[in-house]
Amino acid sequence: MRAVAPSGMVKSSIFRVKVQRCNIRIGFDIDGVVCDFHSAFIKACGGNPDNWKKWTSYPFEDCPVDIPNEKKLEIWDRLQPDQKFWASIEPAYGSSIARVAETSRSHATYFITHRPIEAFAATAQWLYDHDIRPAGLLFLKDKRRACSGLRIEAFLDDYGNVVSEFEGYKLQAFILDRPWNRDLKVAKRVTSVGNFLDEVLKN
Ligand SMILES: [Mg+2]
Repeated sequence: MRAVAPSGMVKSSIFRVKVQRCNIRIGFDIDGVVCDFHSAFIKACGGNPDNWKKWTSYPFEDCPVDIPNEKKLEIWDRLQPDQKFWASIEPAYGSSIARVAETSRSHATYFITHRPIEAFAATAQWLYDHDIRPAGLLFLKDKRRACSGLRIEAFLDDYGNVVSEFEGYKLQAFILDRPWNRDLKVAKRVTSVGNFLDEVLKN
């Protein structure tokens, strides 16, 4: 549990220290938000990872590689327990990973993903290796329920269906602008993780 403190300068006769509000509970999806799963999967399928920008629909088997979908599904089955695959994924474009790390030290920062559970250890290590200290790491499909239980106030995802589930819910759900979610009109859209943090931490 993190302490709650007001913003501003704390004055004392001995020292003066800047403290930051830490009463915001923030949630992040992982793949497509902080981790560049898309380039890594294209590469595993033998394609050019730079083509992630041509991936314009959400299902991962729709990735822009010229092999049959059955082959992509075979590769996906092989990758799920592959610790090296999960460990080798680079930070995603626009993920502002250093700022996520900084935020995780001053705000309760949760990561909620629908990755296969076999990737749990590699994912936890990946976050640690990128200097991120999460308040929690959850692997599940029902992100709205998880956010509700954890009293998360702002959540960022790249999957339109997930963000749409938060409509009418008091939590602020944002979608991170990616080629595969441009058809979604209803959510708050941000162009980078930094943009999201600017929005939720501005008050
Ligand atoms: Mg995602």
